[in-house]
Amino acid sequence: MPELPEVETVRVGLQRLLPKRVIKSADFDWPKSFPNSKHDVGQFLIDAKIIAVRRRAKVLIIDLSSNYSLVIHLKMTGQLVFVPKTKPDNRFGAGHPNDSLIGKLPDKSTRVTISFTDGSRLFFNDQRKFGWMRLMPTIEVPEIDFMKKVGPEPLESDFTDKLFIERLMRRKNSNIKAVLLDQTVLAGVGNIYADESLFAAKIHPISIVNAVPKTRLKALHKELIDVLTLSIEKGGSTDRNYVNAEGKKGSYIDFAKVFRREKQPCIVCGSEIKKIRVAGRGTHVCESCQKVYGATK
Ligand SMILES: [Zn+2]
Repeated sequence: MPELPEVETVRVGLQRLLPKRVIKSADFDWPKSFPNSKHDVGQFLIDAKIIAVRRRAKVLIIDLSSNYSLVIHLKMTGQLVFVPKTKPDNRFGAGHPNDSLIGKLPDKSTRVTISFTDGSRLFFNDQRKFGWMRLMPTIEVPEIDFMKKVGPEPLESDFTDKLFIERLMRRKNSNIKAVLLDQTVLAGVGNIYADESLFAAKIHPISIVNAVPKTRLKALHKELIDVLTLSIEKGGSTDRNYVNAEGKKGSYIDFAKVFRREKQPCIVCGSEIKKIRVAGRGTHVCESCQKVYGATK
């Protein structure tokens, strides 16, 4: 599943490429991937100019000059690939890392093709068909159920340690990993970033929020921001104009200190990294470095 840093990588790339382009047509092969009426498409999508590409949690929002927006959820296997008419090397793709990012498009994973008047195209590829691209009035976007419930963005400047601790305390009797993953507490934190930030802050994932000292929670706030920021830098730091499957995969493995490192030695103390189950998710932990607060192993 693309996580917040990957979706942000998509946003940054598309914000650089899409604004001012005018939509000429939209084709799709799977109605659930593009659940929009023919009338709305004709009225509010075709001939509309792209204004901006925004993100909220893991949802992308492409604002149009028609006062409508395309709201996009990549879900498990979604990706967006922009291909210019000329200079195909300037293509940009990000999201689920597979060969469609760099291969000839459309291919069998292409669900939606948006063509622009200048001959460039935006492909929404999604092998498993859980993702979607929905057209709706821009003013209604904040009214989507998901948007109303989702917690604050961890990378916004107003996301202070005070706000972070307040949000965690909404579920003070739960284990801290479950709370970090709860999208109503915080927006967009997935399994990798929960494990990595808890490791860096030396907090065992089964710890109960209320029992963790404030100093540790402040450390967790800093580590969470650091790990998300680093990951976005990795996603965006390639000198090519697209992020290919290998580059993406490599960047995760490069920075991960515990995630998917079970049975390997901890880089801090040398103990073996364990894989356990917390909050229903595979969880990577160094039981020597990460202290348990308010729970029993
Ligand atoms: Zn360790």
